[in-house]
Amino acid sequence: VLSGGTGSAKFLRGLCKAVPPEEVTVIVNVGDNTTMFGLYICPDVDTITYALSGILDEERGWGIRSDSFNFLSSLRTLGLSAWFNLGDKDLATHVYRTMKLKENVALSQITHDIAGRLGVRSRILPATDDFLETRVLTDQGEMHLQEFWVRWRGAPAVKGIVYLGADRAKPAAGVEDALASADTVILAPANPITSIGPILAVKRIRETLQKRGPRRVAVSPLIGRNAVSGPAGKIMSGLGLEVSPVTLAKLYCDIVDTLIIHTSDENLKSDIEKLGIRCVVANILMRDSNEEKRLANHAITA
Ligand code: GDP
Repeated sequence: VLSGGTGSAKFLRGLCKAVPPEEVTVIVNVGDNTTMFGLYICPDVDTITYALSGILDEERGWGIRSDSFNFLSSLRTLGLSAWFNLGDKDLATHVYRTMKLKENVALSQITHDIAGRLGVRSRILPATDDFLETRVLTDQGEMHLQEFWVRWRGAPAVKGIVYLGADRAKPAAGVEDALASADTVILAPANPITSIGPILAVKRIRETLQKRGPRRVAVSPLIGRNAVSGPAGKIMSGLGLEVSPVTLAKLYCDIVDTLIIHTSDENLKSDIEKLGIRCVVANILMRDSNEEKRLANHAITA
């Protein structure tokens, strides 16, 4: 499963109920990774790890359930502008990761170790161990995606997106093998530009996906002209892309055989199929664990 954060976490929770979790490998976006307060943070990797270990704060969609924020408020007392939220329990993950990176342990190994300690039975792989950062070009200047969305609450007008470092980034160990040997590759419902985009910007990942072999299925994160949550719609519009599942079909037509869209978008089916992609219509909204599992089942049988 190619994955971002919140939408993908719901989908993966359902998938791990539909199939044995040991049979699932997740390749996670690293474009959101950032250094904050000297700590290396991997928002999507952590969201997926926490979701699959059962400790994710499901209401917020990030961080650890029932966490406290004393560290952050102490930083504010010291006069730091702490616009990025980090819970106290969550902090341990970032401290551990930062320490290990300083010892030259690869991000994929650290991710594997954290997931193991937290009892995750699926394999979680960062798309790359190399530097790759999604930068948003806006009318207020160029900024990190987290700055755009969290610090400035998505207010600046989006002019472009750059995947810094992608041209030199190699897939992390295990990524290409996992893609080549999978029965099914699923693009989870995730932001196509800032979650799936950075993964596909790693040339060897896109090339591996272009080869036919496994069934390749994408689940739309868009319903009608809107993303279910997050900045996907705003960013797509800023790039001059129509916010529509048809655009997803255009973005993914070389790497996906089937696109699952919402029942209310059934009228788009023929436009999508004209692009050479099979289109399956289903309820793709995941409001509870039953819907998460049902959508996962759709994706593996579609
Ligand atoms: P971000 O929130 O845009 O940074 O992107 P992520 O890739 O981390 O995950 C959010 C994406 O998942 C958004 O594009 C949402 O539209 C999508 N999403 C969230 N909840 C659901 C859901 O219940 N169903 C579907 N199909 N997509 C969802």
